[in-house]
Amino acid sequence: MTLLISLYLFALGLACGSFFNVVALRVPLGQSVVRPPSACPRCAHRLAARELVPVLSYAFSRGRCRSCAARVSPLYPAGELAAALLFVWAYLRFGLTVQGLLGLLLASLAVIVTVADIRYMRIPNAVLLAFLPPLLLLRLLEPDGRSYAEYALGAIAGGGVLLLIALLSRGGMGMGDVKLLALLGLALGWKGVLLTLLLGSFAGTAAGLVLLLRRQGKLRQPMPFGPFLMLGALIAYGYGDALIGSYLQLFK
Ligand SMILES: [Zn+2]
Repeated sequence: MTLLISLYLFALGLACGSFFNVVALRVPLGQSVVRPPSACPRCAHRLAARELVPVLSYAFSRGRCRSCAARVSPLYPAGELAAALLFVWAYLRFGLTVQGLLGLLLASLAVIVTVADIRYMRIPNAVLLAFLPPLLLLRLLEPDGRSYAEYALGAIAGGGVLLLIALLSRGGMGMGDVKLLALLGLALGWKGVLLTLLLGSFAGTAAGLVLLLRRQGKLRQPMPFGPFLMLGALIAYGYGDALIGSYLQLFK
């Protein structure tokens, strides 16, 4: 049964991921996510049903438009595959529970934020606003043994810390990141959101160093922070209590 549900969620994740890509690539431009139908950005060739199959279409056409052979961004299959894998992860970690549903929601947000932030260096307000009501509702339904105050404090702590950094760094940190971390605080509580920031900063610094070494020192290359915050949030959501617990053990 677990295998069957996992397979189902994998397929659902692929389909949703395909939609998340559209949201991430169109919403920041103020375009509708429904119309026009997907087309090649270079030759405007409208994609047929067989060209819209997640991951497989990309693999079979070797990442090129079937009409004009323009390169298709690898962000598409990557977003689809990431959504599929994260959906299965949320289910295996939390089962068919409210916590699992919240996990699916965070996974969805992670894919949209990552694709949008990599492509445009922006996290669209509309996306954050769309995730707020379902996230709030699930937290009210399932506070996970904590008080509501902990989650309210999470939003304030998450948004507050990054807002302070944004003000001090004068443009080094985008307001999208500030709002994103406030939203994540609402889902994760204040401990979880601080862990998110810590993990996200580690991951971002590590990735920055790798990039720096590979490009041999182009320092001022701006890097999106949203994907790293989302990575931190998923780890904090899945394993935060265990991580914080074993960290505190160090001091006993
Ligand atoms: Zn084309």
